[in-house]
Amino acid sequence: MLYVFGVGEAAISCCYDEADTDHLNFTVRSAGAISNALTQLKPGDMVGIRGPFGQGWPMDGVDGCDLVLMAGGVGLAPIRPVLHAVLEQQVQPVRTQLMYGARDPGDILYANKLPDWAQLGIDIQTIVDRSDAKWSGQVGLVTSLVTQADFEPKNTIAFLCGPEVMMRFSAYALVDRGVSSDRIWLSMERNMKCAIGHCGHCQFGKDFICRDGPVLRFDQIQSQLVTREI
Ligand SMILES: Cc1cc2nc3c(=O)[nH]c(=O)nc-3n(C[C@H](O)[C@H](O)[C@H](O)COP(=O)(O)OP(=O)(O)OC[C@H]3O[C@@H](n4cnc5c(N)ncnc54)[C@H](O)[C@@H]3O)c2cc1C
Repeated sequence: MLYVFGVGEAAISCCYDEADTDHLNFTVRSAGAISNALTQLKPGDMVGIRGPFGQGWPMDGVDGCDLVLMAGGVGLAPIRPVLHAVLEQQVQPVRTQLMYGARDPGDILYANKLPDWAQLGIDIQTIVDRSDAKWSGQVGLVTSLVTQADFEPKNTIAFLCGPEVMMRFSAYALVDRGVSSDRIWLSMERNMKCAIGHCGHCQFGKDFICRDGPVLRFDQIQSQLVTREI
């Protein structure tokens, strides 16, 4: 939880930057008052920090599996430490697929890092909702990448992070390919306040996102996900 004095506190995932391992790193998208204030900070300004809280990605299930990572927008930030765990061989999946969707080419996070990660062996597919004159890549929804992706469904573990509707449809696309719903994990986003399971702001069915999540298993939360169509 990052706190901007006089503004408020928001949940921001710990990120990772291989070029700066001495500091905690965060990637913040300006979405409202707090995140905007975070992006306006100057070197030397002070922020409050609490945590880490909750349950992260189940990294102990990755070895020997095909690891499928699906991210939307700023959802790539919480996935980045997973990529580094793979690249630094802290975990040893058979193959690692990253399917990443952004609204438009300008919204692609870590655009200068993606080619490096691809060169180091991560199979990366990037897609945008709307192209521009310079974009020659794929256009569409990230879910459309699942049918062609190179993974063995029965031996796959999948981590998803992005807008809830994107995660819901991505999870169903993976299930349609034969991935078991108890091997698909979603990082849920709810407005957190106390972050220690007391205030109830982030209650999600029987779970508190701050304490029992944010990473939760698809088969256990499927019925509670938004039902909005895309
Ligand atoms: C576990 C977790 C990890 C996260 N990690 C990150 C991260 O690494 N980086 C990051 O940038 N974000 C992250 N977030 C998201 C971040 O915590 C939220 O976006 C947070 O709400 C930002 O606070 P804010 O005050 O800036 O925006 P808010 O005011 O809370 O606004 C957030 C969104 O809600 C909309 N909104 C606000 N008020 C209204 C309203 N009245 N009606 C309709 N829409 C409204 C805004 O337009 C905006 O899209 C994470 C969230 C969780 C739960």
